[in-house]
Formats: sequence, structure tokens, C-alpha cells
Amino acid sequence: MPVPSHMVIFDRTYEIKDISPLQSSEGILGQSAYRDGIIYLDKNVDLSLSLRTLWHEAVHVAQQDLVTGADEAEARWIALFVHNLLASNPWLAECYLDELDTMPFDIESE
Ligand SMILES: [Zn+2]
Repeated sequence: MPVPSHMVIFDRTYEIKDISPLQSSEGILGQSAYRDGIIYLDKNVDLSLSLRTLWHEAVHVAQQDLVTGADEAEARWIALFVHNLLASNPWLAECYLDELDTMPFDIESE
């Protein structure tokens, strides 16, 4: 499955676009443009690295929503943790897919 063209973070849809060739040549794998609603991603790397980068940029978007700015160390550990948790336990994602229609997914109610 290829990386999708968009993702939703806190009810806002972000386009996932290819990172510029210049940034790619500089070794930049991803970048989040919070104001523009775009996540730039180098899709020419292996899927695992691409997904970890996507998690990393998604955390940066959440940081913009929840706090005042980017925290690189936090983005790194959260992205690695979530990626490895899902890679090691794919049944977890299947549970969400199976129960999507029946679970409230309301974080306020917890
Ligand atoms: Zn970062």
C-alpha cells in the first residue's frame, strides 16, 4: 500500500505531497507546513522510513495544535514508538479498522 495522499489530524485534513528535489538532495525526509495544511514527504525512500517520517511530521502538526512549537526529541520518540508498536502489533490497527463504526473515538469522554 502506498503512502496516502492525505491524512486527518485533530479533524483537519493535511495533504501529503512530495518533498522538493532540492530538499530531498539535502537529505530532508519530511516537513510539515501547518498553516498550509500540507505535509511534505520524501516518498522515494523505503516504506518503513517513509511511514516513520510521516509519523514524525504528524507529531509536529499535533505539537503546533497543542503547544507552541516543535520539539524534535519528542517528535522522534513518539514517531519511533508508534511506528514500531504498529509494525510489531499490526492486529492493533486492524482492531481500529474493524471497530471504527462502533467505537465512539471520543477522547473527551475518557
Ligand atoms: Zn522534526
